[in-house]
Amino acid sequence: MRTLKQGASGNDVMEIQSLLEKMGYHPGPIDGFFGLRTKEAVKQLQRSKGLPADGIIGLNTNEVLLRLLLGYENYTIKSGDTLSKIAHKYYINLPLLLTANPGIDPLKLQIGQVIKVPYAFDVVDTNINYTYEIMKRDVQGLKNRYPFIEVGIAGKSVLGKNLYTLKLGNGPVEVFYNAAHHALEWITSPLLLKFTENFAKAYAEGRKMRGYDLKDIWTQNTIYIMPMVNPDGVDLVLQGLQRDNPFYDRLIAWNNGRMNFGDVWHANIRGVDLNHNYDASWELSKQAEPAYDVHGPGPTRFSGPHPESEPESKAVADFTRKHNFRLVLAYHSQGEEIYWTYQNKTPPEARRIGELFSRLSGYSLGETTGITSYAGYKDWFIDKFQKPGFTIEVGVGKNPVPISQFPKIYQDNEEILLVAPLKARSL
Ligand SMILES: [Zn+2]
Repeated sequence: MRTLKQGASGNDVMEIQSLLEKMGYHPGPIDGFFGLRTKEAVKQLQRSKGLPADGIIGLNTNEVLLRLLLGYENYTIKSGDTLSKIAHKYYINLPLLLTANPGIDPLKLQIGQVIKVPYAFDVVDTNINYTYEIMKRDVQGLKNRYPFIEVGIAGKSVLGKNLYTLKLGNGPVEVFYNAAHHALEWITSPLLLKFTENFAKAYAEGRKMRGYDLKDIWTQNTIYIMPMVNPDGVDLVLQGLQRDNPFYDRLIAWNNGRMNFGDVWHANIRGVDLNHNYDASWELSKQAEPAYDVHGPGPTRFSGPHPESEPESKAVADFTRKHNFRLVLAYHSQGEEIYWTYQNKTPPEARRIGELFSRLSGYSLGETTGITSYAGYKDWFIDKFQKPGFTIEVGVGKNPVPISQFPKIYQDNEEILLVAPLKARSL
């Protein structure tokens, strides 16, 4: 991380502002601009950690921040400590402390033993630009707090970023949720990770969520989540084009000479639209390109040289082939609409389930037409496996949907994410 001080700006500043805010230090608006109030909040944090209070985030402050961002610290057991006392000191409950330390015997704590203590605030921030770095840190943070979440890597992006997967549950009925096929639609990534966090927390505490018995879901189902299918594209949109990008010159050309990618770019870093790169009417998607003025790599709708030509779509397809998913959800933005059909291949149960999702979310049930009905992930899933697959378009307005819509988007979708595993049981 770079040194940050007053006058700096960026997504890293935004992430730190959000952290300071949830710790109660009031850094001002979470806008990515390091102003006077942010400086004062940094000073308060530095004082509380016994650091020189200069309001500058250098090496030592960074180290402290990194631990806070991961959401837990290593605590060395001292004479007289009990888990209850430690939990009390950190304002957390005992189940969360026990969850973070599987196998620990509360009656046999050893002086000098090191345990993990989660902080009292959540890991996943839902008020900031959600870059790949932030997503990666959140995955690590969740894994440390909730070791029962299994984290995997399904493949790598063109630029070598990890395509993370998270696994909730151990049951035979598998479902799969993925997000951010499209770069501009990164708001769907924190949606799935916030759901993962809320699910894991409630499960650890033995609570239900919206009346759903999570233990039942855990034993009967397995939920696989790929929170960011297109990390290179997401970072291009959120961080801008960096000089060291190996596609630098080509990207500018593909973007019609424009340096701004943050309002148009859906594709991966090679200009292929990942949701037009699956082997389901791919040729029709290809043929339709000229009608949309698509003549090669670009911001949107270029289907690539052949199906699964891109490492990201190939990884998603491979991951799907390796499992036995009975139902999949592909998250996109925007439009508050749920797509559920693929030509004449749609399984009959899909309508009933789609109608339920529609009722739970308030989103309308729609059918895609023209180019949007070809070569997408849900199209391919329905075509190859004859099981229900849904594209869910969250939020309203214009992409990128502002993060201020997150609370509503989460509320709209949480119950879908809980009920989908139950519905999958009879498929
Ligand atoms: Zn999309």
